[in-house]
Amino acid sequence: MIEICALASGSNGNSYYIGNETDAILVDAGLSTRQLMQRFESRRLDPRKLRGVFLSHEHSDHSRGLQVLSKRRHVTVWMSKHTYYALSPAYRPMYVELFEPGEAVAVGPFQVHTFLKNHDAAEPCSFRVETGGRSIGVFTDIGQPCEMVRREVNRCHALFLETNYDEKMLWEGPYPWPLKKRVASDVGHLSNMQALELLQKEAHPELECLFLSHLSRENNVPSLAFSVFEPFHSKTEVKLTSRVEASEVYRMSL
Ligand SMILES: [Zn+2]
Ligand SMILES: [Zn+2]
Repeated sequence: MIEICALASGSNGNSYYIGNETDAILVDAGLSTRQLMQRFESRRLDPRKLRGVFLSHEHSDHSRGLQVLSKRRHVTVWMSKHTYYALSPAYRPMYVELFEPGEAVAVGPFQVHTFLKNHDAAEPCSFRVETGGRSIGVFTDIGQPCEMVRREVNRCHALFLETNYDEKMLWEGPYPWPLKKRVASDVGHLSNMQALELLQKEAHPELECLFLSHLSRENNVPSLAFSVFEPFHSKTEVKLTSRVEASEVYRMSL
């Protein structure tokens, strides 16, 4: 059995849990350890299973909890070299391992495939976590679906996929013009429609679960993002994530 859960998702904190009966990893730790532990507890997930954290990029909504988490729970954090250099010293974890983007890293029963993505950070990476013959993708903070993300989406049985904004809400919304352009750019974020189009072309025929992730508070509405994925509702469990609480836990049987 594999359990997956978005402990937090959105511009004020991201952390994605992937675990089995004995081991677990996180992708990102963008909230305080106290909040993170509360969210583990709220979903009856056991932090003692934690074997490591993978950091996707240095932005604080993904990294601000790393230092305390690493120290308190003696957890190693994996990241790319340029992400490490770009990371604020205040967030630098106690235990660090570096990977080269493109490399696969084995942690306990998890094979973590790393690859570069389009985002305005030093060396931003996405991860596909393979375990028990299943793959779970964590693909957020992507300006544009590149060749690599298209290929990797196609291998995933479950996905945390960014649906950051609705185009109309972004362009008509309150953000200042330069920020609107940054969000919509090739190194910004993925819109609801970009995510839908990516899945319609590339989704694995056995995609069983899709977590709509990293929704903007100003430029999206959960119910709207959910309805955009109507074409998938009959064959895939489509689930929402939240900034303020952990998502449901999805259990994949092997
Ligand atoms: Zn982010
Ligand atoms: Zn970011």
